Amino acid sequence: MKQKHTAKVLSQREIAPDIFDMWIETPLAADAKPGQFLGVYPRDKSTLLPRPISICETDAARGALRIVYRVAGAGTREFSGYSRGDAISLLGNLGNGFPLEQGAGKKAFLMGGGIGVPPILELAKRLDAEKRIIVGYRDAGLFLKQVQYIRVNIFSPVINNHLAVFSCLGIAASGEIGESNGKD
Ligand SMILES: Cc1cc2nc3c(=O)[nH]c(=O)nc-3n(C[C@H](O)[C@H](O)[C@H](O)COP(=O)(O)OP(=O)(O)OC[C@H]3O[C@@H](n4cnc5c(N)ncnc54)[C@H](O)[C@@H]3O)c2cc1C
Repeated sequence: MKQKHTAKVLSQREIAPDIFDMWIETPLAADAKPGQFLGVYPRDKSTLLPRPISICETDAARGALRIVYRVAGAGTREFSGYSRGDAISLLGNLGNGFPLEQGAGKKAFLMGGGIGVPPILELAKRLDAEKRIIVGYRDAGLFLKQVQYIRVNIFSPVINNHLAVFSCLGIAASGEIGESNGKD
C-alpha cells in the first residue's frame, strides 16, 4: 500500500564523488518490489515535490531499504547531508516494479547505465532466471570506482551470473562475477 511517512536513516556513505549510498529503516521494506521507487521529500519547502529515487536493495528482515543516488540539484544535495538517525520523509512504494513472473525460468538480460545500475541489484537477487548483467558508464573517472563498487556491493551476492561492463570508451571489462581481468 502506498503511504507517506517519516522514516529513519540507518547509514549513509559517499561511494564515488557525488554518489551516495543510503540505508533507511522503514516499514515500506516489507512489500517493496524490484523496480519500484520512493518519493523522497526535501525538508526545504521551496523544493515542493518529492524526488523519485529507485529502490536499490531491500532487507525485509531488518525492515530496511537501500537507495543509491547522484547529487543533481538542491533536493539530492540536501539528502547527501543526512546521517545515521536523521528523519527522512518518504512516499512509497511507487511504480509497478519489474514483472518477475514473466522472466521466471528464462534467459534474461539485465541492463542499466550509470545511476540506472543500482535497481538491478534487487532485480538480480529476486529474478529466478539465467541472468546476463550488462552495465555501462559514460564517465571513465567515476567508472573505475563504480566498477569496484558494483563488483563488491552489487553483484557479488548474485552467483552464477555473467557481468559485462562498458564505458563510453568501449568494452572495459567482461567476465564472470567475482573475477577480475586486470583491466577494471
Ligand atoms: C522513476 C525515477 C527513478 C529515479 N531513480 C534515481 C536513482 O535511483 N538515483 C538517482 O540518482 N536518481 C534517480 N532519479 C533521478 C532523480 O529523481 C533526480 O536526479 C532528482 O529528482 C533531482 O532532484 P534535485 O532536487 O536534486 O535536483 P533539481 O533541483 O530538481 O535539479 C535537477 C537538474 O536540473 C538542474 N537545475 C536545477 N535548477 C536549475 C536552474 N534554475 N537552471 C538550470 N538548471 C537547473 C540541476 O542542475 C540538475 O541537473 C530517478 C528519477 C525517476 C523519474
